[in-house]
Amino acid sequence: MALDNHWFSEADKGLALSLRIREKLHEEQTPFQKIEIYETETFGTLMVIDGFVMLTDRDNFIYHEMMSHPVLYAHADPKNVVIIGGGDCGTLREVLKHPEVKQATQVDIDERVTRLSEKYFPELCESNDDPRARLLFDDGIRFVKDAEPGSVDVIIIDSTDPIGPAEGLFSTAFYRDCFRALGPGGMLAQQSESPLLHTDSIIRPMHDSLRTAGFLDVLALNFPQCTYPSGWWSATLACKDNTVSFRREQQAEEKPFETLYYNAAIHRAAGACPEFFRRKLYG
Ligand code: SAM
Repeated sequence: MALDNHWFSEADKGLALSLRIREKLHEEQTPFQKIEIYETETFGTLMVIDGFVMLTDRDNFIYHEMMSHPVLYAHADPKNVVIIGGGDCGTLREVLKHPEVKQATQVDIDERVTRLSEKYFPELCESNDDPRARLLFDDGIRFVKDAEPGSVDVIIIDSTDPIGPAEGLFSTAFYRDCFRALGPGGMLAQQSESPLLHTDSIIRPMHDSLRTAGFLDVLALNFPQCTYPSGWWSATLACKDNTVSFRREQQAEEKPFETLYYNAAIHRAAGACPEFFRRKLYG
């Protein structure tokens, strides 16, 4: 079937993903990126940045839950959490479900992402007024460089792809600053693209850079994400001075909040590695 102009398509490197749209709700060029919002026929509201799908109503819960709960239930006592990027506030909402978190600071370079999310994805922003939430609009690279050494328990990097303002968020220099900002037992989680498409180009180099920056253990998580290229996504976890042991598995079993995707069985299975992925990442 030929696609007419009622479809949004993300097309990159010989692969296209298309969503049929009812209407374009918003478009603007910010100093950092072009943001578009659409109402789609089957996935609800869609946010696009620079032509790439960021989130849809229908499937964002998988990504946001997997960016937050595995790392928070792997760290022994995550009190001070920093989210770099994540301007749609979905990861912030998940992080604040953890009562042991005393402060969650979200640092997105582009305030317009958050303002548009408040308007078009209000359910993702429902915890923005939580007294533990701090919303800053600044470059995450600068924020981490200036952070007090040892002051952060968990850093979650919920960024756009490694181009434009997010490019430096995938560098060894940035990971060194993260390592310094983290306290004992500190952990980092970063969205790391598709196991099928980006293991050689992004995920393996990310593992190498994190180890070069000093992280002792690095682990790949994978999960479905049907509106991202290949429909399959990953997050990379790194631990400052312990092995990534998922040691709070029991707490995951007894989590005091609702989720739609994540549970204790997913927690246990999230690090299970398909064979090609295991070979490329762990030899
Ligand atoms: N889930 C999405 C994905 O994987 O495509 C990411 C969503 S979130 C909207 C990405 C955010 O990263 C954007 O709001 C963007 O402004 C932010 N960002 C990009 N580079 C950044 C930087 N250097 N510092 C802080 N935020 C940054």
